Amino acid sequence: MAVTGIEITRIDGGSTTLEQSRVADLQRRVDGRLLLPEDEGWAQATTTWNGMVAKLPAVVFQPTSPADVATIVEFARNEGLLLSVKGGGHNIAGTSIAQQGITLDMSMMRSVSVDPETRVAQVGPGCLLGDVDRATQEHGLATVLGFVSETGVAGLTLGGGWGYLTRRFGWTVDNLEDVEIVTADGKIRTANREENPDLFWAVRGGGGNFGVVTRFAFRLHEVGPTITGGLIAWSAERAEEILEAYQTLTAAAPRELTAAAVVRLAPPAPFVPVEWHGKPIVAMVICYSGDDPGSALAPIHSIGGPIANVIATRPYTAQQSMLDAMEPKGPYRYWKTEYLPELSSEFLNAFREGALEVTSPLSQSVIFHLGGALNEHGPDDGAVGNRDAQFISGFSGTWPPDAPTAPHINWVRQSWQRIRSYSTGGNYINFQLADDDDNRLAAAYGDNFERLQRLKAEYDPDNLFRVNRNISPAA
Ligand SMILES: Cc1cc2nc3c(=O)[nH]c(=O)nc-3n(C[C@H](O)[C@H](O)[C@H](O)COP(=O)(O)OP(=O)(O)OC[C@H]3O[C@@H](n4cnc5c(N)ncnc54)[C@H](O)[C@@H]3O)c2cc1C
Repeated sequence: MAVTGIEITRIDGGSTTLEQSRVADLQRRVDGRLLLPEDEGWAQATTTWNGMVAKLPAVVFQPTSPADVATIVEFARNEGLLLSVKGGGHNIAGTSIAQQGITLDMSMMRSVSVDPETRVAQVGPGCLLGDVDRATQEHGLATVLGFVSETGVAGLTLGGGWGYLTRRFGWTVDNLEDVEIVTADGKIRTANREENPDLFWAVRGGGGNFGVVTRFAFRLHEVGPTITGGLIAWSAERAEEILEAYQTLTAAAPRELTAAAVVRLAPPAPFVPVEWHGKPIVAMVICYSGDDPGSALAPIHSIGGPIANVIATRPYTAQQSMLDAMEPKGPYRYWKTEYLPELSSEFLNAFREGALEVTSPLSQSVIFHLGGALNEHGPDDGAVGNRDAQFISGFSGTWPPDAPTAPHINWVRQSWQRIRSYSTGGNYINFQLADDDDNRLAAAYGDNFERLQRLKAEYDPDNLFRVNRNISPAA
């Protein structure tokens, strides 16, 4: 590695040169790796899921320990350099990358250890969801994680997190027992219900605003090893009827059943008959983790006339990675979503009208059932809030990099405008983009926003951790 000096962005927006000797000194002080653009592994370390993210750091550090992280955090703070933290790199806004700054890529801290007796998993911040699901399922256990296995645990958790098990066990952060975190002062702290409880409250939804998490501890539940799940699809000519059936199904669903409704053009997947490829369909993605799939799924099977039906008994880990192939890195993406307090018929009409105007075969319109345990308030609630959310719904635009961008973004924005008035007023922080303004940021936290700002002022008064959906410190 021959470095003469690196042009690097300062936290105040200016630029500075980091001399070769300083970089070499820093490398000596950490066990992990330092990467520059010419180094092997650079592309992997700097590529994010959304191909539209056009940001690159000046330097990447891949720490192997909390001490490494503390060294880099102190260095960035003392030098006033722009710093970001990368977990799985799946954030749609590309917040894992500090443009021409320092990116801490946590991918070398990717271990999971499961204690089946205490039912707690210790999870490294570089883990992807699949790492955790595979390790916990060896013991017939699981925690609440999302439904694409290549998503990062860290970003998903710090924003709240939900998935097929949310209706049973709440937000992902409701299942967080403890974190180890390096705060802006360079200290390695533990935060849990007894120790640094304010900090623990803030990280349960406040994103990467409060420090670099170097370990998560999750509570586990008996799930699997098999569940009943999969996907069933009908012609979108029946969209009104199928969405009404979805409304009825979800109104009576047990907590063990999670169903999502999806409207899109049929992908050329092996389970879709060839004559349906590219035609509009309405589908339900199902996960039932209880003991009586016959009764729970009877309303779905009674609908009749599906063009594809791959609902079956399958390993929980297969369910958790079933949609991976639909979500590769590379295409351009743009999303807008809202939490919903209910599924009214007026909402369903507005949703359907937007969904059927889709502009790309890769895009989709989704309603995901939440509710259940998520709606239970308690004294132990974290900063994630939004306990009134029964559903999350939105429009997800996806298109190839060489296609014009405007039609797809316009479709998402126009469809979103149709459904906005049915929102709880809240939205998911982890689905926000750079064009979501301060009002939308505050709306994602509701009543918790001011407390988050106060805690930000306490733990990160200079806003070192600002490459994220940024909560500015209270004045
Ligand atoms: C295909 C796809 C499917 C998804 N499905 C779901 C789902 O089912 N449920 C759900 O809840 N969400 C889902 N999401 C949203 C997901 O939660 C966010 O994209 C999340 O940001 C991804 O985390 P990551 O670690 O991969 O992100 P990154 O892009 O790596 O990081 C995002 C941000 O998290 C923070 N961060 C990351 N690591 C750390 C750390 N160690 N310490 C402190 N801060 C850190 C940083 O601020 C960073 O900017 C999905 C996203 C995608 C792209």
